[in-house]
Amino acid sequence: MQTSTLLAFLAGSLLINTSLQAQSRTVKTTSTRTVTKTSTVPPARLPEFSIPRAEVESHIRFIASDELEGRRTGEKGNWTAARYIAEQFRLLGLKPAGDQGDYFQRINFEKVKAAMSATLLLGKDTLHAGKELVIMAGGPTDLSGEVIYVGYGLTDGEDGYKGRDVKGRIVVAQGGSPEAKGPGEIFGASRNKRKIAMDKGAAALIELYSESIPWGFVNQYFSREQITLPTESNTGKPITHLWINNANNQYKQLKEAGQTVTLRTSGRPQSTVVSANVAGIIEGTDPKLKNEYIVLSAHFDHVGVGKQGGSPYQASDSIFNGARDNAIGTVAILEAAKALSLQRPSRSVLVLALTGEEVGLLGSKYYSEHPLVPLKQTIFDLNTDGAGYSDTTIISVIGLERTGAKAEIEAGAKAFGLGVFGDPAPEQGLFDRSDNVNFAAKGVPAPDFAPGFKSFDQEIGKYYHQATDNPESLNFNYVLRFCQAYAHTARLIANRPTRPQWSSGDKYEPAAKALYTQE
Ligand SMILES: [Zn+2]
Repeated sequence: MQTSTLLAFLAGSLLINTSLQAQSRTVKTTSTRTVTKTSTVPPARLPEFSIPRAEVESHIRFIASDELEGRRTGEKGNWTAARYIAEQFRLLGLKPAGDQGDYFQRINFEKVKAAMSATLLLGKDTLHAGKELVIMAGGPTDLSGEVIYVGYGLTDGEDGYKGRDVKGRIVVAQGGSPEAKGPGEIFGASRNKRKIAMDKGAAALIELYSESIPWGFVNQYFSREQITLPTESNTGKPITHLWINNANNQYKQLKEAGQTVTLRTSGRPQSTVVSANVAGIIEGTDPKLKNEYIVLSAHFDHVGVGKQGGSPYQASDSIFNGARDNAIGTVAILEAAKALSLQRPSRSVLVLALTGEEVGLLGSKYYSEHPLVPLKQTIFDLNTDGAGYSDTTIISVIGLERTGAKAEIEAGAKAFGLGVFGDPAPEQGLFDRSDNVNFAAKGVPAPDFAPGFKSFDQEIGKYYHQATDNPESLNFNYVLRFCQAYAHTARLIANRPTRPQWSSGDKYEPAAKALYTQE
């Protein structure tokens, strides 16, 4: 699961929170259908009822081991985890669903490191990277000259580029846009500005930042490495692009003609880093329903080692093992893959281990744009990802009331003595903080099946994105039952005669209508 600060930048959900909260309280569920068993095997003899605890434990102890160094996207430990998962799929006889006849869906990510140094000389002032300015993009630069102000830098109008020749010049623009409110919009406007400035031949772009995200967050975030999916705006060498903290309008002179600045920076080193989602298929047994898929997804990446982790750590343990986040979920899909391949359900199942979650839900974003089975035949995604657990009598399901499979989820949990808690910590906007949201955005009903918690309490905080999230600290009796409940729930949904539907009026319902009615 992603941290809220990262989320704030990438998804804008600090602002979505309140509407989500309201929504989850007002939308009435329509999912009270009874569970229909199409299997003739008595439930207790289904393979998920005899998963050995030692098997769950050994998978977790490997995936969350120190040797895998926090499984950071694109790094060796991340690939080792992907390889381990792929070989488990092979052992279980899953059909490879990857892009080269194997289990891997390879993704080329862009990795941009923080600028080592940058200064902007402006009259008597010197602004420094990590203090008054952040470098957003660009290579090494040493530039001097008069600036030219272009308003928001988004139009060719009077208040934009009209009548201004910016070729080879240092362009200054106001931060954000007249419409931009959330972080996503502010960053989107910023990328547009850079593209426009580049198209017009500018040498550099300075934005005067005074938007809603506090400068401290901005500064902290861009002082670290970022990993992104390649887009048009970050292919090719970008110009030097910086934000300066203009919260108190202290640099308003940059809007005036004739101002001269000197800009020096080491730039942000940029490279390509490859990682992969891991995907395998279990074919359904029903001649008709096997053309429909349910996705069982879990991210296997985590945040890495030391400073990469983004949280304080002790010298004695600098590895962010991510046992809870998300080795548990990864093993839940492995055990579900095993149970469902031993006793296949009516519908087909795509087992999907996702990379790039912690760096912005990128593996699932990429998958949703490059699906390995058609999305319109994908009727449900049962994602599993969690922040940890503080109640071993329950599982927690984010989106329980919205995604139309409440009955199966409750039955799946009950079979292993667990209750279900719907929508924990609504203030956290969790629905939009894990990979399920990228399926939801395409219209696929997609809850997140998480270990038991009701709020972000002390027990959650003790391990969530901390180096202490080690396998040794897990209650494996609970983890086993969690995995079993997940596998059984997956089976019940895959065997349902009808597809789960979004609750009426849900914000993702229109996307579902568009997806499932297309030719
Ligand atoms: Zn996480």
